[in-house]
Amino acid sequence: MKAVLDHVGIAVKDLDAALAFYRDALGLHVEAPEEVASQRVRARFIPAGESTLELLEATAPDSAIAKYVEKRGPGLHHITLRVDDIRAALDQLKAKGVRLVDDQSRPGAEGALVAFIHPSSAHGVLVELKQSPVSSLQSPVASQVRRYRVGDLELISLFDGFFRLDGGAMFGSVPKALWETKNPADDRNRITLAMRPLLVRGRRTMLIDAGLGGKDDAKFQEIFGVDRSRSLDDSLADAGISRDDVDVVVATHLHFDHAGGFTVRDRSGRLRPAFPRAQYVVRRGEWEDATHPHARNRACYIADNYVPLAEAGVLLFVDEDQTIMPGVKVVRTGGHTRHHQMIAIESGGRTAAFVADLIPTTTHVRDAWIMGYDLYPMDTLAAKQQFLQDAVARETLVFFEHDPNVAAGRIRGVNGRRTVQPLS
Ligand SMILES: [Zn+2]
Ligand SMILES: [Zn+2]
Repeated sequence: MKAVLDHVGIAVKDLDAALAFYRDALGLHVEAPEEVASQRVRARFIPAGESTLELLEATAPDSAIAKYVEKRGPGLHHITLRVDDIRAALDQLKAKGVRLVDDQSRPGAEGALVAFIHPSSAHGVLVELKQSPVSSLQSPVASQVRRYRVGDLELISLFDGFFRLDGGAMFGSVPKALWETKNPADDRNRITLAMRPLLVRGRRTMLIDAGLGGKDDAKFQEIFGVDRSRSLDDSLADAGISRDDVDVVVATHLHFDHAGGFTVRDRSGRLRPAFPRAQYVVRRGEWEDATHPHARNRACYIADNYVPLAEAGVLLFVDEDQTIMPGVKVVRTGGHTRHHQMIAIESGGRTAAFVADLIPTTTHVRDAWIMGYDLYPMDTLAAKQQFLQDAVARETLVFFEHDPNVAAGRIRGVNGRRTVQPLS
């Protein structure tokens, strides 16, 4: 079993008094207090390298922390080890006769799974095991095919694996201190993102974006932390769709994490369209930009993903916002790239939207959270504000193409703050 020290829990009598040591004497950065109602504790988190110190103060006399302090006085309460597969870890411990507090894992904070090992088996230390929600191994639900109905249309959220991008670049001018709690970075400052193409079944069968595809070499996969142990082929199979069933493929834009799956290499090494019967809808301006890259956007465009489509004669260029099939419209947003487009869906009086890199993850619903990658960030801001206002009012089902955990949700505006209510 591989385990990483996640945090150390320290029971204190008085959180504010503890600051005299941790903040004032040691000079550590201490985060604002947080109430964990289910545990009846108030906590303060102190980042310490890869791990965190957690100061825990009881808020009720029946809280585990209150009992601990009463019996043993303040001090080290537990350590938490992060494992990849908590079920396998518990099985291994059971087989070795280790006494467990929790036979099975249970839901912990922020989508993690946790289980405690009894101190009598751990030489007096209460040990918590934790499995984080992010990464394919750790969260099978993150890669699941999900079906939604909007009027006459069936929307199927697919999955083409995870990859990693620099966390700083993903959040632009937002400091790491603010984004890292929700988007933990690895030792190279990368955060995990998903690729979630969307299948729309109506009068025709349409695929929106196609993920990274499988053409990249080992060096590329290493740089971008590619994990396609579950890929688009798996989720198409789960959805009962074959590549031949797809009539139309729509590109939001031609960056490699969206257009990579548009082409495949056949046995002879030739590149050909991955969806043999499909027409590929591409914004003409995006095509021009992708085939004439400059120093600032070159790294995002890989010609093998789309030039073979022109050679095969399967491209359909669009110049204006327009309906591609009944209920499905392409709408230019600009911002991320000059001709980036989203897909607006409307049927039976209900609305959905595939917003691609306009709002890549649920964390990006806040106005200023705009990617450093965006070529025209002020256009992103304007397009996002307009979209979100409309999405809140119409209760639009919004798809988040890159969110590692949430495929789709509705946006709520509560007291001027926007939140996403995930929908599974
Ligand atoms: Zn992009
Ligand atoms: Zn992207």
